[in-house]
Amino acid sequence: MRLIDSHCHLDFECFDQDRDEVLQQARSAGVCHLVIPGVRAATWSRLLELCRRHSGLFPALGLHPYFIEEHSPEQLEVLRQMLRAESDILLAVGEIGVDARKPSLEVQWELFRAQLDLAQEFSKPVIIHSVKTHDEVCAELRRRRIGKGVIHAFSGSRQQAENFVDSGLWLGIGGVITHQRARKTREAIRHIPLDKLVLESDAPDMAMAGRPGLRNSPQWLPEVLDSLAELREESPQALARQLWRNACDLFECEFPQPALDEKAAAGSLV
Ligand SMILES: [Zn+2]
Repeated sequence: MRLIDSHCHLDFECFDQDRDEVLQQARSAGVCHLVIPGVRAATWSRLLELCRRHSGLFPALGLHPYFIEEHSPEQLEVLRQMLRAESDILLAVGEIGVDARKPSLEVQWELFRAQLDLAQEFSKPVIIHSVKTHDEVCAELRRRRIGKGVIHAFSGSRQQAENFVDSGLWLGIGGVITHQRARKTREAIRHIPLDKLVLESDAPDMAMAGRPGLRNSPQWLPEVLDSLAELREESPQALARQLWRNACDLFECEFPQPALDEKAAAGSLV
């Protein structure tokens, strides 16, 4: 089984001690490529360097609403310069968005809109974080006719899921659906066209069912695939092939199909 983790914060400090090992375990589990979204300007260079050092890691850069108090308008100019200079390797603008649990909503919106401008200027897809703001975010994307992008860690109603998909967007599916209690989201995901879903670990966040309190890891992505296969009544193998295609379409990138190490393959197919 070959999977792409469309959203993993492998650059975060909590992986400093064992990053190579985590990556190795992910590969052994069949996770061939990881998209690493940037969240704050202070760590962008480090993230790019990490992606240059390892094959299979693909960077995106953005200013995340979670760190709203750290961001400044000058950083938008830095982002523009980096989008220009690193255009070949940057897959997307992200992680950007709005989070109603965080302060300064108005400033968050300003920053989000400015980064949407940049994504449009450089024709890059967007990786969007939206919490309790789905309807407003969807309206903004629709107004701008932005369809290349993913609503990462989608959690919401069937109607909200359909609204995003009708605008052309993809939904990022992660650990949420492994929890039986996430009824509304599971119900929404069951009905969305298959070609509009991508898998993500969102590691180190988003704990999977059965692993509470643990640092999340891309190696557990197959568990999300299994939950999705069960929910959609599809075979995991067929689903994995479609999800791979979806990630390529979303990011406009033909992720290379690596030759599978036989031992690792045997491990991931049980
Ligand atoms: Zn994230």
